[in-house]
Amino acid sequence: MAELRVGRFAPSPTGPLHMGSLIMAVASFLDARSRAGHWFVRIDDIDPPRAQPGAIQAITDALAIHGLRGDRDVQFQSDNDIRYQSAFDALKPALFYCTCTRAELRTQSIYPGTCRAQRTPVPDASIRMNVSQWTPIEINDGYLGPRRYTPGRDFGDFIIKRKDGLWAYNFATAVDDGHDVTDVLRGQDLAEVTGMQAGLVRALGLSVPRYSHLPLLRFPDGQKLSKQAHATRIDNTVADENIHFALSALGLSDPEKKASAAMLDEAVRHWRLDSVPPEFEAFPRIEC
Ligand code: GLU
Ligand code: ZN
Repeated sequence: MAELRVGRFAPSPTGPLHMGSLIMAVASFLDARSRAGHWFVRIDDIDPPRAQPGAIQAITDALAIHGLRGDRDVQFQSDNDIRYQSAFDALKPALFYCTCTRAELRTQSIYPGTCRAQRTPVPDASIRMNVSQWTPIEINDGYLGPRRYTPGRDFGDFIIKRKDGLWAYNFATAVDDGHDVTDVLRGQDLAEVTGMQAGLVRALGLSVPRYSHLPLLRFPDGQKLSKQAHATRIDNTVADENIHFALSALGLSDPEKKASAAMLDEAVRHWRLDSVPPEFEAFPRIEC
């Protein structure tokens, strides 16, 4: 039997969706559906200090209004603590307690392994993964092509559990993607951390997903749309236009304007990762 492909869109609830995130939601949806696969939404809510009240509802409502319905229930990383704990236990032989200060780390481009010998709990420490035994991670990115990530050069011993006791993003994402996802499609801002994530999936003995890193939507000055850059939230009252815009940006030439769900159905049949342009046209900055 052919493998069931599974894609996901994994927003952090740090604010409402903007056009850049909608494009990634649409792309991951089309990619999964075009392979007769499943698509679902995972809310990456393991960082309460960065969460914005109401964001989860705003994101899930916006996706539904835009016709982006999952084949599975929405997942929440905050429900997956047991899974993270057992992954953590499995990695334990390679974990260590790091007490380096921010000032000590600032001068280093990658973590130099300073605290590797601290193998028993120390107060106020973050917990890092020793990657000195890792072989290079080779990936065939579905969009960027072959990529190689060399431990000790492209990344160092990275954080698994933060000093404040929270799981680190790379760890939680790798555990969940390794368990649930075959195809990770997301923005190029995350291409750099993919070596760590894929390396962790491999270290856990899970199957490494296929990764595809698409261009980022940028303002005319080159800045990427993000919550930090105050990208305006998408307007749910013009969902059809938003979907039309996202599909055109993704290289589906001149989709016929109709209701968003119908446009998405049509787009599933025409979707090709290699029709996505190398850059998206700049997105106008609307001052409000
Ligand atoms: N939750 C992450 C974010 O919103 C992205 C996760 C991912 O796609 O790997 O930036
Ligand atoms: Zn350290």
